[in-house]
Amino acid sequence: MTALPEYYVNERILFEDFSDITDFSNVAWSTAGTKTADAVYTKVGASSMRIQTAVGARAMLQKTIDKVFTNNELYIRVYIPDNTNLDYIEISLTTEANSSDVNNYNKRFAMTWYYRVLQTGWNIIPIVSSVVWSPPIAWTKKGTIDWASAMKTITVVVNPKEASSTTVVFDSIYCDIKKDPLALITFDDGYDSLYTLAYPLFKARGLKSTFYVSSSLVGGAGRLTAAQLIEMYADGISIGNHSSTHDTLVGLSYATVSSRLQTCIDYLLSLGLERAAYHVAAPGGATDANVLQVMADLGMKTHRNASSSTGGLWNAVGLPENAITALSLGPSTSLAVAKAAIDNAITNGLVVSLYGHIIADSGTTAWSAANLTALLDYIVERGIKTVTIDEYHEGKINPRYNSVSLARATS
Ligand SMILES: [Zn+2]
Repeated sequence: MTALPEYYVNERILFEDFSDITDFSNVAWSTAGTKTADAVYTKVGASSMRIQTAVGARAMLQKTIDKVFTNNELYIRVYIPDNTNLDYIEISLTTEANSSDVNNYNKRFAMTWYYRVLQTGWNIIPIVSSVVWSPPIAWTKKGTIDWASAMKTITVVVNPKEASSTTVVFDSIYCDIKKDPLALITFDDGYDSLYTLAYPLFKARGLKSTFYVSSSLVGGAGRLTAAQLIEMYADGISIGNHSSTHDTLVGLSYATVSSRLQTCIDYLLSLGLERAAYHVAAPGGATDANVLQVMADLGMKTHRNASSSTGGLWNAVGLPENAITALSLGPSTSLAVAKAAIDNAITNGLVVSLYGHIIADSGTTAWSAANLTALLDYIVERGIKTVTIDEYHEGKINPRYNSVSLARATS
């Protein structure tokens, strides 16, 4: 199955820290679990709520709440001592008051996570309204209920596999998730205009960019030098992998593709440019199954292609790591279109990815310094954050924002 995205970047409000376990009571019509306060496996509040199931029986605990969720996205942090005997965890919300009536429970929004996406150790589990990963993680609606009403009861469920017992430690629940719009601006091929024209514009505004270079072209005519790469890297520009030559990787042998990508990795590392050495943009954005397999085998973290099929926009929550599409900053894209992509990202909480080549007034891959200046001024004016590809991937956009590891798929 597809692994979940590794990081989830957002702002959010703490809704429940599980510090007072007396708030939670066993559900009369279900099987009781054993709840204890856990001060060891706690990241938020004084302690967490550890639930141990009986053998072969789910544990259900309810708490009375009174909360209208302004958006229905949550995330839950749990610690799982050992996932071997865990079947699933469920969270549900109902507009009915805490009750021993099973009919109230049956009218609810519910979300279930199975052991396949839960790892031994810490897990952050998102519930979002729209997702692009597999399996989808979204609410299931049971009965007549809507989000406009206040939710009156929250129920947590831990279910063990047959004839076994399991334990889950609930640390925290966050709500009112705000997706954080981001701009990922990248340039390919390492032309020297990136140093003379683009870099000063980014630097003067405190903005971030990623330059993908082909290692054998560095220092050549009209191209960036190693010293320039090192200087810009120290100022926050990340240098990504654009293969060792600029020839397409499509149709080549596994060994050749692997050698070319590894040569560029080795070159970047030899210069101390490690941040984006494992982030790749294939020459021409072109890949086939063989190329993608090599990328996976080499441990490449992302691949930015040259497709603008999404207008360079994606959801900030569920971006597939290996499918970063981008809108070209070239003759076919006007300043107005690039600004509109920025606007759309801000309006919809999305990531916008723009990629360019040479900074010049004319040429088949050129975008003018005047356009780039105006675009970067607009980015400052609108307040959207820019990130390098590695910052995006690691979720380390800004200390004010959180980045947390997600559960990794295990099968
Ligand atoms: Zn290129």
